Amino acid sequence: MVYQYLFGPVPSRRLGVSLGIDLVPLKTCSYNCIYCECGKTTDLTTERAEYYPTDAVIREIDDYLSTRPHLDFITFSGSGEPTLHSGIGRIARHIRETFPEYRMALLTNGSLFTDPGMRAEVADIHVIVPSLDAVSESVFQKIDRPCHSITAAGVRAGLVALRKEFKGGMWLEIFIIPGLNDTDEELLFLRDAIAEIRPDRVQLNTLDRPGIVDWITVPAAEELERIAGALGFPGIEVVGGLASRSDIASFSQDVRESILGTIRRRPCTIDDLSRILGLHPNEVRKYIDTLVADGQIGEKREERGIFYVSL
Ligand code: SF4
Repeated sequence: MVYQYLFGPVPSRRLGVSLGIDLVPLKTCSYNCIYCECGKTTDLTTERAEYYPTDAVIREIDDYLSTRPHLDFITFSGSGEPTLHSGIGRIARHIRETFPEYRMALLTNGSLFTDPGMRAEVADIHVIVPSLDAVSESVFQKIDRPCHSITAAGVRAGLVALRKEFKGGMWLEIFIIPGLNDTDEELLFLRDAIAEIRPDRVQLNTLDRPGIVDWITVPAAEELERIAGALGFPGIEVVGGLASRSDIASFSQDVRESILGTIRRRPCTIDDLSRILGLHPNEVRKYIDTLVADGQIGEKREERGIFYVSL
């Protein structure tokens, strides 16, 4: 079976060996974050809909999991905001009931949790990883560039309500953009919001790969320590690269070689590679991460996006 909605499994920095479920077309999202690795949002929306047929997604899941592969997580993530899919609750319930041995994670911008119905729909998921990049309205607008109806105050309130109702784990992610959300003032606001939300974990994320804008820098390790200290949450983690991604069994040597061979012939974007190799862009991204980290390929910013080149 050729999968349309599943990708991977790929080694994830936080979730180990993770099978991705992509529930929305590229790039359907309620945000247009300046750091988004999937490119600019082309469908900026808060409209929940059955972007892909729920039954077809479930059929692929049943087929893939029928062989009981080893996975650390089944993760709702991909080309945009997964909670925009109106069938996410049904899909999660199906996995819980049919394959209870697997754990599910949801990577989300958290913007739709103002709606009690949305919060109820994610009850079957084991771990929710929502983002909260800023608390002040102006910084939130600059980083996340949301749909006009979404406010920083609303997102915060939604996460507070979710935490009260949700029985699983909540790992809050903050994407650090130097110059925007690392000021003393914003860190103080974030500290307050974290104390109110009470997540199980707080993780700081930084740019791993060029984003939409070219001026975002990566904070130095001491700077991240200062930020973590200012947020006042015990054991804040910095989401780091996977030192041995290439050793993870789910990585295929053939795919690595195909990517290297393709790039050797001509520089390619992630989308180019995805089309040429018939792989989901997120899967290609994971391989690209390893190859860049290993110094086997380099990046070049062009008008059409980031091109990967042989070194
Ligand atoms: S919320 Fe996620 S998918 Fe949406 S624009 Fe931001 S980083 Fe990209």
